[in-house]
Amino acid sequence: MNFAATRDEALKRLGEFVAVSGRYSRDRNHVVPGHTNVSRLSAAISRRLVTEWEVAQAPLSRYAASTVEKFTQEVYWRSYWKGWLSLRPQVWDEYREGVEEVEGAERIRAGQGPVAVMNHFARELRETGYLHNHARMWFAAYWIHIERLPWQLGAKFFEDHLLDFDPASNTLSWRWVAGWQTPGKTYLPRRGNLERYLHPDLLDDGGLERLENPSAWLPECPERPAVTRPDLPDDCRLEDGCVLWVHEGDLHPESSPLGSFRPSRVVVTGNGDDRSALQAAWLERALNDTVARMQQHYQVEVERAGSLPGWWSKNSDAAVVGLRPEVGPLRDSLRNLEGDFARLSLVVRPEDRFLRARARGGFFSFWKDLQKKLKAGAFPLAAAEGVGGIGS
Ligand SMILES: Cc1cc2nc3c(=O)[nH]c(=O)nc-3n(C[C@H](O)[C@H](O)[C@H](O)COP(=O)(O)OP(=O)(O)OC[C@H]3O[C@@H](n4cnc5c(N)ncnc54)[C@H](O)[C@@H]3O)c2cc1C
Repeated sequence: MNFAATRDEALKRLGEFVAVSGRYSRDRNHVVPGHTNVSRLSAAISRRLVTEWEVAQAPLSRYAASTVEKFTQEVYWRSYWKGWLSLRPQVWDEYREGVEEVEGAERIRAGQGPVAVMNHFARELRETGYLHNHARMWFAAYWIHIERLPWQLGAKFFEDHLLDFDPASNTLSWRWVAGWQTPGKTYLPRRGNLERYLHPDLLDDGGLERLENPSAWLPECPERPAVTRPDLPDDCRLEDGCVLWVHEGDLHPESSPLGSFRPSRVVVTGNGDDRSALQAAWLERALNDTVARMQQHYQVEVERAGSLPGWWSKNSDAAVVGLRPEVGPLRDSLRNLEGDFARLSLVVRPEDRFLRARARGGFFSFWKDLQKKLKAGAFPLAAAEGVGGIGS
């Protein structure tokens, strides 16, 4: 399987998907060989080779909004999770602190457990860097409620292999399956559901009887995490002449307020450290594509570096501006730069700010509100709606 790793590849894939997007709501949950029922664009979207709103708008050139509503809604699930976690960054820290190896986990990760189809998913994840959404739900539910393994360790297994790894979608989906995200609600892996939605060519029934009467492994008294970071700073000082920092969390600054900025040079960061070979190879292609686009767009020298802290240690007098990385490993890697933030301006895309402000409650209130804005043409925002904020 190939997953678009350049902007051109992502736009081509999006074009192909638009042609069949009218069938998405009917077919999406059916897991078929080659995953032809879904867009397979998640790696490109999670690194912002294409933006969520660009992807959500594309099918509207061909279909009525009501026909492709399911797809639009799924795309904005990503934005909702991202906004939700950004308002409650402590949930990410708690996940990271909770990752601990336990006996029995390696057998399941290696695809040597008692349920053949789950072994297939574990191998597919390692060998392709991708799983269909339904397979992610089944596997996570099996890991937690049948094998009784800690959800944090399962989330880390996904983090270590998914090409599309996204701190918010991954952490919060695992929490949801485990019953932490919506207290009292869990997702259970059921034999009947697998038999209905998994293509017969993929359905090996070895061990499936273990999924006949699953019982939930309910967490004790989960609490709804409080909003601890209600606002992001919103004053921005964009001085021409700064260095533009482009990172793996958002590889399309051209479509952000930084698109019209005139940097003295550009530094593109990212590396294969702590990644699987597949993740590292995908990212390398995406970064090379970004370097070429940056050269074309900004017409200045473009450097490649492993990380911003590493680059800055050799360029200590540079003032830097970049798009604000959201909660996750990239953001964590900036923690040691605390004293340098005076020279680092982090810009928030207005669209991210707009969506984040609506992610305080549940998804359906977020969606209802957004849907009204989409219908009224009030989202995506017009380019003139300005630069977002800076700050740490
Ligand atoms: C346990 C678990 C872990 C997950 N971890 C990640 C992750 O690390 N990174 C990630 O990008 N997605 C994650 N997802 C969400 C979802 O499974 C993937 O986004 C989707 O399967 C990607 O395939 P696609 O691009 O073909 O999706 P499509 O069905 O074509 O959907 C189009 C786009 O909508 C968004 N989307 C679709 N379904 C979801 C969803 N359930 N939640 C959030 N956004 C969605 C994605 O951006 C996706 O690319 C996870 C889901 C579960 C249940």
